[in-house]
Amino acid sequence: MSSQPAARNLLDPCEHAPHYIGAIAPYQPGKPISELAREMGLDEAGIVKLASNENPLGLSPRARDAIDAALTELGRYPDGNGFELKAALSARYGVPSEGIVLGNGSNDVLEMIAGVFLAPGRAAVYAQHAFAVYPLATQARGARGIVVPAKDYGHDLDAMRRAIDADTRVVFIANPNNPTGTLLAAAELEAFLREVPPGVVVVIDEAYNEYLPAAARYDSLPWLARHRNLILTRTFSKAYGLAGLRVGFALCDERVADLLNRVRQPFNVNNLALVAATAALGDHAFVRRSHELNLAGMKQLTDGCRRLGLEWIPSYGNFVSVAIPRANGASRAAAVYGDLLRQGVIVRPVGGYGLPDHLRVTVGLPEENARFLTALGAALARAPV
Ligand code: PMP
Repeated sequence: MSSQPAARNLLDPCEHAPHYIGAIAPYQPGKPISELAREMGLDEAGIVKLASNENPLGLSPRARDAIDAALTELGRYPDGNGFELKAALSARYGVPSEGIVLGNGSNDVLEMIAGVFLAPGRAAVYAQHAFAVYPLATQARGARGIVVPAKDYGHDLDAMRRAIDADTRVVFIANPNNPTGTLLAAAELEAFLREVPPGVVVVIDEAYNEYLPAAARYDSLPWLARHRNLILTRTFSKAYGLAGLRVGFALCDERVADLLNRVRQPFNVNNLALVAATAALGDHAFVRRSHELNLAGMKQLTDGCRRLGLEWIPSYGNFVSVAIPRANGASRAAAVYGDLLRQGVIVRPVGGYGLPDHLRVTVGLPEENARFLTALGAALARAPV
């Protein structure tokens, strides 16, 4: 019968997913504490997780109070326009509320950018070892990813500019980058912005901006007025300690924000996230503490790695990628990762980022950093040679 082939086609919906969806390698998050406890029969309280660049201080006290006060409102939908948070961000950054887009984490904003500007036949440029969501968001739209080889583990902006082709609509840059922690200087970024065709969107993802040491800080906000193709993204997940609530935002031209808002889910940032982020933004003491704890913890980790005879990629974030030396030409990073897990210490393998010999560790509390270093020393001593 003529209807048979059509009927057969309808048997398996998965066959009808666009081919580029099936080709996506899913995001690999850090292993949750509860999962490791289940798998290894360990006590959750004894596990140290330094795998997801979370703030070891947890959330700010002001954010916690705001959450407590908002619990009674959970029966209602959130303010879909995020009026108060946008007003607070506008006052802080001097960008009109119309140029601010809120996301369920900054991941959500990156997805919106891809949803607006990418599609089959279009392309996005990003660097080798760059944050995993850039390829994911690009592939999910059926667009082509143009991966530009890294320079000293960081972005090679000259090569990225040359890689922009007629199909390119977006360039993703993480500053600092995750998982390498590399930082581009402001002058390099400004020169890049001047050279990129104005019809190509440049995303500067500043998720770790608040961790920059004083000498490395730069102000990207004035660039928005000069470059209408620029989108800055930031997050409350790191220095503000709200990773579990999921709040991030974009600062950009009002016309770009209008497009992003068209693909944004109506209530993408929940009630608790909105009030907590608004409160956290004003908790300067907490952000300062987070910043200082991170600088001291980074020194503790890198000093410890030096004592263990290890090399690392110098990092401007709240994490550092440590090179695990090979033995007889064979990588030992996976063995060391597994050994650390058995000792109740979770770090992040970064083979998926093209760094098969590195492990990324998040800066934790002093005692967590010490625990990691001791466990790492033991794991290295046991790793096959
Ligand atoms: N950008 C970079 C560079 C990141 O490392 C992360 C977090 N892993 C994000 C964006 C997204 O963070 P969130 O969605 O929690 O804001």
